[in-house]
Amino acid sequence: MVVLEEVLPALFLVDIHHFGQPGLGGAYILQDEGEAALFDAGTSLAKDRILEAMDALGIKRAQVRWLFLTHVHLDHAGGAGVLLPELPNAKVVVHPRGAKHLADPTKLVASTKNAVGERFRFYGEAVPIPENRIYSAQDREIFQLGKLRVQAIDSPGHAPHHLCFFVPERGWLFTGDAVGLYIKGRLLPTTVPPSFDLEASLATLDRLAALNPQKLLFTHFGPGEPTLIEGYRKLLLSWVERVRRHLDKPEEEAVSAVLAEIQAEGFPVGPGVSGDWSMSVRGVLQYLRRREAG
Ligand SMILES: [Zn+2]
Repeated sequence: MVVLEEVLPALFLVDIHHFGQPGLGGAYILQDEGEAALFDAGTSLAKDRILEAMDALGIKRAQVRWLFLTHVHLDHAGGAGVLLPELPNAKVVVHPRGAKHLADPTKLVASTKNAVGERFRFYGEAVPIPENRIYSAQDREIFQLGKLRVQAIDSPGHAPHHLCFFVPERGWLFTGDAVGLYIKGRLLPTTVPPSFDLEASLATLDRLAALNPQKLLFTHFGPGEPTLIEGYRKLLLSWVERVRRHLDKPEEEAVSAVLAEIQAEGFPVGPGVSGDWSMSVRGVLQYLRRREAG
């Protein structure tokens, strides 16, 4: 049974059961005037859930016009390669810096294996996408979906190839990972290797706030209020400071020390999220060391 929720009018969230668990990862389906779009596509393991959701909504495969990918990390983009053969009229919209990784995912897969370790089995496969189905979006470029416009917003920080997507008619902002994770009502950092960059993230939060969004739509997981943008700024600053205090330790020791700290403070560090926390500590350590190295 596919888990499908209408989170806002004509906007549906498909739970892709990332890491085999509910409530951690999703893909959005938006319809207008007989056209449909996906916002993020999960991993390749999400394919059947997404297609089932479209069937349940009565959306024909040929109606899907866009696959908007916030970035090329496999939990957002991995599903695109296996979905495209089913969606004859869809184009994949991606950041110019991500496009080559969709056409040839070799490096992306290697980098994911390196970052996620034993959890790689949850990331599925990455099928190369034909170049004529990939569209590199410029910052502020507008895409038409029925009568709605969808605007690509360059939003580096979590990754240099990150876009958010804004629907100005509704004030909806699809945040990908640019505003962190929002799991069970709690904002959590996502500062993963290899490219997390604090300054870029903070500048992105300014750009997103300036759009004056009415609703944020997190891939991880679900809708949230726009005040979370400011909340994430504070969280990021304190998170990077926390990791910085362990910068002189070997990486594994630093990861354990930070995890012990946040567990003692009541943050959820159980199965399903401890891997995310570890990755986010590593991403900050690598960022701080890059900065030290100048
Ligand atoms: Zn993600």
